[in-house]
Amino acid sequence: MDNLEYDVVILGGGPAGLSAGIYSARSALSVAIVDINMFGGQPSNYLELENYPGMMKIGGYDLMEKFEQHCDMFDVKKFPMQEIISVDLVSNPKIIKTKEHVLSAKSVIIATGAKPMKLGVKGENEFIGRGVSYCAVCDGMFYKDKVVSIVGGGNSAVEEGMYLTKFASKVYIIHRRNELRADKIIQQRAFKNPKIEFIWDSVVEEILGTDCVKSLVIKNVKTGEISNLETDGIFPYIGIVPNVDYFNGQLAQDSKGFIITDETMKTSIEGVYAVGDVRTTPLRQVITSASDGAIGAVYASKYVQALKEITV
Ligand code: NAP
Repeated sequence: MDNLEYDVVILGGGPAGLSAGIYSARSALSVAIVDINMFGGQPSNYLELENYPGMMKIGGYDLMEKFEQHCDMFDVKKFPMQEIISVDLVSNPKIIKTKEHVLSAKSVIIATGAKPMKLGVKGENEFIGRGVSYCAVCDGMFYKDKVVSIVGGGNSAVEEGMYLTKFASKVYIIHRRNELRADKIIQQRAFKNPKIEFIWDSVVEEILGTDCVKSLVIKNVKTGEISNLETDGIFPYIGIVPNVDYFNGQLAQDSKGFIITDETMKTSIEGVYAVGDVRTTPLRQVITSASDGAIGAVYASKYVQALKEITV
């Protein structure tokens, strides 16, 4: 197994990681980005973004391809599809072991993002890939002329619900309150869509089926009434949880596991920075991730420069 040394290793190749790559490489440091998947992160699965300044309307995959191409303009070594075995952030240098490489780094920028939160109800795990999906863009086409249900009331739930109306004959959006959390402009579009029906004040208690999903057990949280909703698919969009499996216990985290940073993206460990959705932040957007990446990279670079000056 090879042993590779870098000034900065960035974990995660989504908008935060790629932005950090651009900014750290421009500081004339040796930089590597490692991802367990291909680069692009969560936005690669977004159908369309219309709030990334300057882009008006752009596919999530297309925007992330531009981020990666931009990173390629600089000398950033990319390690996609890496199975990570361990990450030691406390040692100096910090050590990242993947199945194929050992990378050592003076500074690490964590940009591992977040993943969809599960409902945690009976039938959810059993029917993944057979009616339970967390990605409308990936699986929507399998629901042509079928009935699907979305769970949640945030931007993801409502936007992905609208996307599914391109295929499905009917889309239920099941929300635990009677008011959506999604941006008003997104709400207005959804309310006008004749294929969408909202089921308010309700939660899914169980997912039922045989070979694949057939129906949901729904509970009205105000009346306590239980009902059965026939559906061919269910897409939970109830929020996200941080991808922190390799760092748990090493860093200060909030009650939901997100990594706590200061305004320079510095974590509780010297030389370790966290950027994007993985950190505690009031807004999770592509633009805020990109901004975090820039800030984290600038301060990681300052940290590395200072280390180099001490050792000269
Ligand atoms: P979110 O904004 O946290 O919304 C999660 C939704 O799920 C909320 O409506 C919440 O209900 C509901 N929920 C949470 N736990 C639940 C449970 N156990 N059972 C049933 N419902 C539950 O999550 P998100 O929509 O995935 O968005 C994540 C972040 O990405 C947000 O910051 C969002 O703004 C951003 N995002 C932005 C865009 C965009 O700007 N175009 C698109 C997608 C995502 P309550 O409302 O009652 O809490």
